[in-house]
Parts: sequence; C-alpha cells; structure tokens
Amino acid sequence: MNGLTLANGHLLLPDRTVVTGDLVIAGDTIAAIRPADRGRSAAVPQPDDGTTVIDCRDRLILPGLVNCHCHAPMTLLRGAGGGLPLDRWLREAIFPREALLTDDDVHAGAVWGALEMLAGGTTCVADMYEWHYQHAFLETGRRARVTTVGRLGAPGRLQDCCAATRDWNRWMRDEVKGDVYMDLCIHSEYLTDERFCRELAAANRELKRRLHVHVSETKREHDDCLTRHGRTPIAYLVDTGLFDYGGYAAHGVWCTDDDFRLMAERDISLVHNPTSNLKLGSGIARIRRARELGVNVALGTDGPASNDNLDMFEEMHLASLLHKGVAHDPTVLTPWEVIEMATVNGARALGRDDIGALAVGRKADLCVVDLDRLHLTPADDLANLVVHAMHAGDVVQTMVGGQFVYDRTHGDAPAVAFDGCPVAATAKAELLAAVKRISDKQQQLNNTTKT
Ligand SMILES: [Zn+2]
Repeated sequence: MNGLTLANGHLLLPDRTVVTGDLVIAGDTIAAIRPADRGRSAAVPQPDDGTTVIDCRDRLILPGLVNCHCHAPMTLLRGAGGGLPLDRWLREAIFPREALLTDDDVHAGAVWGALEMLAGGTTCVADMYEWHYQHAFLETGRRARVTTVGRLGAPGRLQDCCAATRDWNRWMRDEVKGDVYMDLCIHSEYLTDERFCRELAAANRELKRRLHVHVSETKREHDDCLTRHGRTPIAYLVDTGLFDYGGYAAHGVWCTDDDFRLMAERDISLVHNPTSNLKLGSGIARIRRARELGVNVALGTDGPASNDNLDMFEEMHLASLLHKGVAHDPTVLTPWEVIEMATVNGARALGRDDIGALAVGRKADLCVVDLDRLHLTPADDLANLVVHAMHAGDVVQTMVGGQFVYDRTHGDAPAVAFDGCPVAATAKAELLAAVKRISDKQQQLNNTTKT
C-alpha cells in the first residue's frame, strides 16, 4: 500500500510540544513523525515511490477529537425547550417530540450529527439514543461507540437491547471489520429501577461492555437517588454491577469526593459537558477535584437540543474559562490539559489506547486546521490558540484511519467536502424532511387535543 505524508505541518504531539514536520501514514496507522522545518518557501519534496505528499504548511495537525457524550439524532430537535430546567426540559420538550420519531427520522438526525462532528474535527464519538441507529455512523465513516438507551419500557426491551448489542458487535468484528461498536447503557438511575439494572449487569457478563450513563446531572436527581437507595447514583450503579467492565459517566455535576474515589478505583471516567450543564442550569462539575482524586476526565458536547452545536473546540474553550473563573486561578487547566481531555482522555474513557494522539503506532485519526485566519494570527502559542481561539469552522480536513472523510479544500458543498460518503449528498434534504414530519405530527396532535 502506498503511503501518505502530511508534510511541513505543525504537529501537536502527546509530549505537549508542537513540532513542524512530516506525519507519515501507512494504511490506517501513523508510521513516522519527522521534524523537518524547511521554512515557509521551500518546496516539499515529491518522492517517486508512489507516496502521496500533501503540503500542510501554515496548517496545524491535531489528533482527532473524541466526543464522549452525545445524542447525534437530536439535531432534529436542535435548541428545543430552551429555558427549561432538566426535568421539565425532558418531560415537556424532549420526550413528547421523541415519541413522534420514526426510525427514518432518527437515522436522518444521526447522519447529520455525524457529519457535523466530522466537519468540526471529531473523529470518534460515544453516542446514546433510544433507537438502533448505529448504521448512520458506519455510513459516515467514523469511529463510534453507540448505545441504545436502556430504560424501563415495553416488556422484553432489555433482552432486545442485549441481543442487538451482541449481534451487532459480532457482525462488526467478524464481517464488517469496521469500528462502530455498541456499548452498554442505561439512560440514568431515575429512568430505571434496581431490578432492571441488576438484570442488565448480569447480561453484561457475556457482553463485557463499558457502561455509558447520565449521572448526578442535577441536584434533585442526586438527592432523589439518595432518598430512594440510600446511596449516590455512582455508588448505587457500582453496587448493581453495571460498572463491572468500567464506563463513562456524563455530567457528574453533583458527584461527591467519595464518588470520585470510587470512579478512579473502578475505571469510570467523568465526561464533562460544560455547555449543556450551563444551558440547563444544572451547575458546574468539580472536574478539578475529580482530577486531583485520580478520575480520568473527558469532554462531551451532549446532544444539540441542550448545546446547541457539536463543536468540541467550544467545549474546550468553555471548560478552560469556567474552571479558571470558579477557582479564581488562571493556572487551573492549562491548554494542554484541556486538549488532552478532548483527545487522549476521551480515548481512555472508551477503553482505547490506539487513538487520541499523534504518535507512531496509533491510528491516523486527525484534523487539519488552516492557520491563515484573522483570528488565528499570529500563531505563536498553538496549544493556547486551539483552546481559546479556534472553532469547528476552522477545520479544513478530517481523517479517520488514514482516509480523509472530510475535505473542504476543494469546496464547501457537502457532496464535495464529504466526497466518498454517499449519504452526505442527500443528508440535508432528509434532515429537513424529518423535521417537517415531526412538526406536522405535532400540529395534528395539537389540533386533535383542541377539538
Ligand atoms: Zn446526555
């Protein structure tokens, strides 16, 4: 297989340095990193061995971002229920709309969310929703850990979810050989009961998957769990066995120090979602304390109904500012630490040591940012620029496993920028058709209620 070299770019390396040089890719893996500052005007050598060389001068190459908590299909409900607190937001704005969704709607929303993330440099996502919609991630050429929400519902639902997870993962491993796997999931302690959790944990002894869950997002949820079970959500869920194979818990705004100790001990990462927590008025997760107590802290956007975009640069920016302000200390969370939360810590949360960093032997998952922008000039302290000045729109190319899955250096139209992704060409029409279907159904329901 002929290789690919991204030449003369600024490379953000895991030892917290930036070097200018060449990133050599063989197949789906980073094969070499060679510092080679040829200066701004020197020509990039074109080898005659069939290797493709792309000149990346004035570009920053950083590891693909890992979004550890998202609900991609909620692009259908972008911004719905603004101004409501979590319990009313779920019950008044989200659940009634979700009750109207069809499989096709969810697929259209997930494809759109997946494309939005790729265009913003996110190469791997942990996504949670209450449908079987994993195909959307496969069709858009990304890595994903998809979870079908476990919560109390129709009889047999738990068995269906477990069977789907087992069959999908087997098919993915043996036949597709792709990288979209299903993890274990419950929505939360408050939408399940103890029997459900223990049965799911027992079924997971065969599946052996990490748990994706919402935990201690609001004070009320945290306190209600204490009343119901005499333990915090983290302690209760650990006790049910759902975290026996580790996991990643979104939000954790009201987690205690004991929760953090338990999380560090049991390989449970905390996924920080600053935008969503602020928009829903849930509070500010104590991630500084969590890190002090040894918890791996990753970042997530949450769904676009509570965010309202899937821009991981914005999450980095907000996380950095928020915790400096809360601590009255600008030294809290250096830019490098924040970048790690969005990359290598995210990989670790998902139990992976093969993505999340530009390092030899890791998968070639990366994004390329054009530094020739007004707001990125002068580009002196690149780690600082990534966290405090960049946004998703600065990404010009995104690569997953050595393949460019997004490249707008030849044009912005989805069919051009997502060349090779057949669903991209029709994605917008399908999203808008789904949004219209939902709105028509809502209108019909309102009319029926009135008459
Ligand atoms: Zn969520």
